[in-house]
Amino acid sequence: MKLAQLTAYLESLAPLAYQEEYDNSGLIVGHPDSEIHQALISLDCTEAVVDEAIATGCQVIVSHHPIVFKGLKKFNGKTYVERVVEKAIRHNIAIYAIHTNLDNIMTGVNARICETLGLKNSRILAPKHQLLKKLVTYVPVAQAEEVRSALFAAGAGNIGNYSEVSFNAEGFGTFKGNEHTNPYVGEPGKRHREHEIRIESIYPANLESKIIMALVLSHPYEEVAYDLYPITNQHQQVGSGMIGELENAKNADAFLAFVKEKMHASVIRHTAFTGKPIKKVAVCGGSGGFLLKQAIAAGADVFITADYKYHEFFDAEGKIVIADIGHFESEQFTQQLLYEIIQNKFVNFAVRLTKVNTNPVKYYI
Ligand SMILES: [Zn+2]
Repeated sequence: MKLAQLTAYLESLAPLAYQEEYDNSGLIVGHPDSEIHQALISLDCTEAVVDEAIATGCQVIVSHHPIVFKGLKKFNGKTYVERVVEKAIRHNIAIYAIHTNLDNIMTGVNARICETLGLKNSRILAPKHQLLKKLVTYVPVAQAEEVRSALFAAGAGNIGNYSEVSFNAEGFGTFKGNEHTNPYVGEPGKRHREHEIRIESIYPANLESKIIMALVLSHPYEEVAYDLYPITNQHQQVGSGMIGELENAKNADAFLAFVKEKMHASVIRHTAFTGKPIKKVAVCGGSGGFLLKQAIAAGADVFITADYKYHEFFDAEGKIVIADIGHFESEQFTQQLLYEIIQNKFVNFAVRLTKVNTNPVKYYI
């Protein structure tokens, strides 16, 4: 199939608009219209992973971490980043990254950690703002249902577990077309009054062009009247970190032993136990320190993440147990997650998990 088919599907699940500002998710190397037969999944795209792609005949590497974060100015093979990009281009291997956009969805990296730990009632810890907008349009009564359905099909009207959400009010619209018009109802040069429905519906901003296209194609008027409003609501299903609950509370000692085993962690660096049993668990794969305040505010007893620095551990202030399990360890199930996402959708397409352990951190125990 074409590379674009794979990337379009991945981006329908984890839109690029959901990535953090510093990130560089998306197609980093390669042409969307190139043919692909086999993909290699990895957490990091290192030289060893590119070599593995060459040896196993993969045309695309789908990696969680982008190999390129900032602009590259020279290509002399001086750094591993330059060498990876150069080698991939020389061997016609595409590199695709699905990073914080995969972290930020309800079925992404953090959801997989919650599942691994058996957490219930998991939700996004820090939902994102500025991802939703509102559409208001005015449709003749007879066509309202058709327009509503077209908007829903294009992705409007989803709130939490509810779909096809809209508000509808009846009223009348007026319009007068000039001599260049051919109005659907009424005559040019005469003010027309039409019984209309005002339809309002919320939509993800990244689907705006698709939704406007659906509106214009389903609406009977020559000139479709609509308003697009920015709204500041949180998107409950998109954001950083997740929080959930253990079926049965555990004491902190037993809980960390459980996490160590489930997450295959060689070691867990943690703050002092608070004396409270562990019931509410906040998680963030990778560097999640920026979410500590939200984890405390949400009442989490423990925060499982990675990349904590010495001084940052003090911020626990006896209110929560910070548990740093290692960056690679916290995200290791992401490879399996990507494997399943791609294999379940493209059953006849070959997907391979890397055999390279890309973790740059070694533990001397
Ligand atoms: Zn990471």
